[in-house]
Amino acid sequence: MSDIAVRLDTVRRRIGLAAADAHRSASSVELMAVSKTFPAEAIRDAHRHGQRIFGESYLQEALAKIEALADLRPAIEWHFIGPVQSNKTRPIAEHFDWVHSVDRLKIAERLSAQRPEHLAPLNVCIQVNISGEATKSGLAADAVPEVARAVAALPRLRLRGLMAIPEPAQTLEAQRMPHRALRALFDVLRNDGLALDTLSIGMSDDLEAAILEGATIVRVGTAVFGTRDYASH
Ligand SMILES: *Cc1c(COP(=O)(O)O)cnc(C)c1O
Repeated sequence: MSDIAVRLDTVRRRIGLAAADAHRSASSVELMAVSKTFPAEAIRDAHRHGQRIFGESYLQEALAKIEALADLRPAIEWHFIGPVQSNKTRPIAEHFDWVHSVDRLKIAERLSAQRPEHLAPLNVCIQVNISGEATKSGLAADAVPEVARAVAALPRLRLRGLMAIPEPAQTLEAQRMPHRALRALFDVLRNDGLALDTLSIGMSDDLEAAILEGATIVRVGTAVFGTRDYASH
């Protein structure tokens, strides 16, 4: 087995154990393999071992890989998880299945307007700045309900839920707090009548905490592909 196959098995076991702890089925948590900085061949390797959903953060790099791996579609899905600049929305709307990092209504409006008619509506999550850090991207929690209603009304988008990248924390309890806050906001929106089904939380170091708080997609990079080398970015 390749290193990636071994690590995928390990991550799937972690997801299964955390789901059992949370009294959830393992199938209620999807694994997104975050392949940023890794080559197309690493993605092919992961796909051979059953991985279906891939996350990318850097647009140019992602577009090159999507093209190189065109033969794997539609068996694999591409999820954009990086910051979205408003002058880069068109290629994102044209080439991705999901965008997890919508943090302004203007971005959502552009993605909706630019989503090609022959494709299904683009799945989106609103990224929430749940730890309230001044420097991190994401919409402030108190602004989310109004923006969520507006995004849900856009014709070529399908609002699926919320995404967050909480501040790293050392203990399971500390990791759970921001995830719990995001889950509470998610429940408020659902009680308001929005048909959301996705909580995009949990990464290599905190996926157990996220699953305990209701994660439906965990975004795992390092634990699947190994340590990233950012030299080229
Ligand atoms: C890179 C990245 C991840 C994966 O992080 P790891 O710690 O390597 O698992 C998840 N989400 C986002 C938004 C990322 O940019």
